[in-house]
Amino acid sequence: MQGPLRFRQIELPPAAEALRAELRRFLADERQAGHFTPDFEGWGGFSPEFSRAIGARGWIGMTWPKEYGGGGRSPLERYVLTEEMLAAGAPTRAHWVADRQSGPTILRFGTEQQKRTYLPAIARGECYFCIGMSEPDSGSDLASIRTRATKVAGGWEIEGTKIWTSNAHRCHMMILLARTSPRGEDRHAGMTQFLIELATPGIAVRPIYNLANEHDFNEVAFDRAFVPDDRVIGETGNGWNQVTSELAFERSGPERWLSTYGLLRELVDAVGPEPGAKEAEAIGRLIAQLVTLRSMSISVAGMLAEGETPNVEAAVVKDLGTNFEQEIPAVARRLIPHAARAPDFAHALDHAILWAPAFTIRGGTREVLRGIIARALGLR
Ligand SMILES: Cc1cc2nc3c(=O)[nH]c(=O)nc-3n(C[C@H](O)[C@H](O)[C@H](O)COP(=O)(O)OP(=O)(O)OC[C@H]3O[C@@H](n4cnc5c(N)ncnc54)[C@H](O)[C@@H]3O)c2cc1C
Repeated sequence: MQGPLRFRQIELPPAAEALRAELRRFLADERQAGHFTPDFEGWGGFSPEFSRAIGARGWIGMTWPKEYGGGGRSPLERYVLTEEMLAAGAPTRAHWVADRQSGPTILRFGTEQQKRTYLPAIARGECYFCIGMSEPDSGSDLASIRTRATKVAGGWEIEGTKIWTSNAHRCHMMILLARTSPRGEDRHAGMTQFLIELATPGIAVRPIYNLANEHDFNEVAFDRAFVPDDRVIGETGNGWNQVTSELAFERSGPERWLSTYGLLRELVDAVGPEPGAKEAEAIGRLIAQLVTLRSMSISVAGMLAEGETPNVEAAVVKDLGTNFEQEIPAVARRLIPHAARAPDFAHALDHAILWAPAFTIRGGTREVLRGIIARALGLR
């Protein structure tokens, strides 16, 4: 593509393809041993046992320096790991957020002591993080957050409420974004990131049940919870820059276009080896989109590997990818009549229908992403 979007074709290096073969063997063995059953929602279940098993193999924090428990490997190898884990429906949720964004934030902005305390525990698959950004009246407009951190002797006192916090009830830590000085003319100034131990007195985690009636996210209330000074991440007041630097990592990975991959596989099986013209055309369109999205996502991983910040390209991948994830259940329900649905297909379809509305909300809504893309294209 030309202009402000810089997608370019990237070949995965031989080391990444060798890792793919190793991963496939490992995942097949784990599945056969009954250590997991594939989850139809692409990000899989929450399993500390599985996270510890892959931590022991060096597959969490695999791009981080070895001195902090990382693997010193390339982002393209991590890309392959993510793709294989999701395609297999492996239970990756426990370590997912820490591996994808909390660990990299600590690595980039944290103190030496913070790096030595948290990164090795994350890499071993023993320390799980959640994201404390959204609030009851602040989601897309994150700069309007009201959760406040007030300076007190030896630390900070936190007051406010976070919402939609995925897995807060099962995580040890949160990276919290809070206001440390009142909102002034520059609405992006005066915010700070903190490392919060969720077991701290004054923090209440309350469940919110989603459309599938599953307890996945929460409301997290802070009632004068004390956080010591050494838990400030980076510079006080620099929270906005730190948060926005995470976005390309959060928006471009295979998790933004593989969430309903399990259903696509079930659909191909349900249609069988000799599909009719209508089925062949519909599945062909889906596969063509899948292949294109995959190349775009690899391209963004390549730019990240070279130290670039491809936020606009990541927004394009997330917008197209999450639309694709929503299209799969729409096509599946159209092609396979209710009476012809085998139990596994029906289960995957039901699950995808209940989860699909969230795909274009979590990690940045469709409208907000399109605003970012339009601005980059000079359309607004
Ligand atoms: C499954 C799931 C998991 C989540 N997990 C987490 C988590 O772990 N941690 C966390 O902090 N948050 C989490 N979120 C919250 C998510 O980031 C927010 O829901 C999202 O950013 C939107 O914010 P909002 O819900 O406040 O909606 P709003 O921002 O109020 O948006 C409402 C509607 O207005 C539209 N809109 C808003 N602003 C604009 C604009 N400028 N231009 C055009 N349209 C606009 C939006 O597109 C949307 O359609 C999760 C959400 C979901 C669905």
